[in-house]
Amino acid sequence: MTTKDPVDRLLATARGAPVDEPFRVTGVMMQYYHVCERELWFESRNLEIDRENAAVVRGTRVDETAYDEKRENLHLGMISLDLLDDGRVVEVKPSSALTEPAEMQLSYYLWYLDRVAGVRRGGVLAHPRERRRESVELTDQRVEKVESAIRSIHELVRRPSPPPAERKPFCDSCAYHDFCWC
Ligand code: SF4
Repeated sequence: MTTKDPVDRLLATARGAPVDEPFRVTGVMMQYYHVCERELWFESRNLEIDRENAAVVRGTRVDETAYDEKRENLHLGMISLDLLDDGRVVEVKPSSALTEPAEMQLSYYLWYLDRVAGVRRGGVLAHPRERRRESVELTDQRVEKVESAIRSIHELVRRPSPPPAERKPFCDSCAYHDFCWC
């Protein structure tokens, strides 16, 4: 199958159709795209992240312990879901500090489930430490944002070199800090 649109290419890849250039976007890639394009580029090259980094460890621990009794870790092609709760997709995050990237990651899961599996679901963004939960629905506006992000991610990860580093409030806790500021 030859298709130029990255969204069609991703869908064909997810459905197992023969594609000239398979194209995959994980939930983490969708999240990184909305955090830092340079971080996304590094992630796309499978560069090993610093597991001792305090922020990474913190995020991992909350992911490993929160909602333990309900955790399902459902893997569906390019996406891995934390859990389903009453049929809703729940994404667990340690803090609400980076709301938009987390919302877009969850929106991508909802979009992927709808487009690839034909299953329409709502979502919940959960911040157990803050005892907060917010609903995320796959509206037409979110569909547009997800598909626009997929096209931008496709363009970004094909670049031969990463976008330049731009100082952000969370650079000091980023796993790729030493690739940017040392
Ligand atoms: S250190 Fe900052 S600029 Fe570098 S990848 Fe991380 S968030 Fe992006």
